[in-house]
Amino acid sequence: MAGCIFCDIVKGKIPAKIVHQDPLSLAFHDVSPKAPTHVLVVPREHLDDLDAATPEKELLLGHLLMVAKEVAAKQGLEGGYRLVVNRGEDGGQTVDHLHVHVLGGRRLHWPPG
Ligand code: 5GP
Ligand code: ZN
Repeated sequence: MAGCIFCDIVKGKIPAKIVHQDPLSLAFHDVSPKAPTHVLVVPREHLDDLDAATPEKELLLGHLLMVAKEVAAKQGLEGGYRLVVNRGEDGGQTVDHLHVHVLGGRRLHWPPG
């Protein structure tokens, strides 16, 4: 989608520190990390957010979780990690391309703010 930062990263138009790529998804370090490890897993295809995912995207959504756990393992997050999907303004979403945050490398607080 034109004007979408993550679509531009998927296309290689904007540089990113990529840690995983496959035909369906891409994972790269967040430019403004909120934890020692902060990676974003995104589908290559543009979906605004989780609510834009129709039932035929079920396998894709599962794939993103599988990639997220593989990323966590590759990043050495044996002590644990957190996956976050922000949706909409109240959810704290700032980039309108579906993404899963993989956060770890320190003890994370709960509940989140
Ligand atoms: P959200 O707030 O939508 O859940 O998460 C968006 C995330 O994308 C934020 O953590 C933000 O730091 C990250 N981000 C925004 N622009 C860029 C960018 O150009 N490159 C990378 N790698 N991350 C970005
Ligand atoms: Zn996009």
